[in-house]
Amino acid sequence: MVEKITVGHVHMSGCTGCLVSFADNYEGLFKILDNYADLVYALTLVDVRHVPEMDVALVEGSVCLQDKISVEEIKETREKAKIVVALGGCAAYGNITRFCRGGQWNQPQMESYVPIGELIDVDAVIPGCAPTPQQIRNVAIMAYLLLKGNDEQKELATAYLKPLMDLAKRGDEACGCDLMYDVINQGLCMGCGSCAAACPVRAVTMEYGKPQVNRDLCIKCGACYAQCPRSFFNFDVMNEFEGITELIKGVME
Ligand code: SF4
Ligand code: SF4
Repeated sequence: MVEKITVGHVHMSGCTGCLVSFADNYEGLFKILDNYADLVYALTLVDVRHVPEMDVALVEGSVCLQDKISVEEIKETREKAKIVVALGGCAAYGNITRFCRGGQWNQPQMESYVPIGELIDVDAVIPGCAPTPQQIRNVAIMAYLLLKGNDEQKELATAYLKPLMDLAKRGDEACGCDLMYDVINQGLCMGCGSCAAACPVRAVTMEYGKPQVNRDLCIKCGACYAQCPRSFFNFDVMNEFEGITELIKGVME
């Protein structure tokens, strides 16, 4: 057995829903922890008080700029982690914390919340509010294969992770309007409805075969654009779909 990778869960201004989603892998999570990854940091689960060195940091939540400890912790995370993953809409795009504006007791000064990408370089994004258990599981497995696998496994893991790395490069702003600007306005929408199915708050409805976004409902999680097959349809991944599925199945058995 090859040595495990080290994984940490870094909790910024999040709701712990992303961690719950990771835990929703049930036996799958135990399988990962038994064979592939040591959880070296997670304030909710592990009694380690300070950010350690780690291979993969799964960062949940945005950063409050008025909270010095949070700002220091995210910078320390970048220094100590080989791979930083923005886990979920808050870390990746701000999500619901984009609407924070301070003025609430007992810390009325806490008013500016930004996605982690505004303060540090992010390697990959797992979008969603919350991301699905399978998405998080797959990224954990692929990170393991990327760092510890043979050449073929590294290649598959790279293909799998590339769209999530491209999302990180794309930026740290998301909104249902992305469907309009980057899909419909580009003549790419084919009316499949995946965006409406992905939206956690039902802000997207299909009208005359095209998505209609209710911006007052949108919480800016980025799920609709990420799930749209016309945002990034990665042929490297799709062509390797069977191989990747078999690989994940093999790892989880
Ligand atoms: S998921 Fe993309 S292609 Fe499908 S309806 Fe929505 S915007 Fe159009
Ligand atoms: S429309 Fe829905 S899925 Fe898209 S960013 Fe807004 S809340 Fe998220």
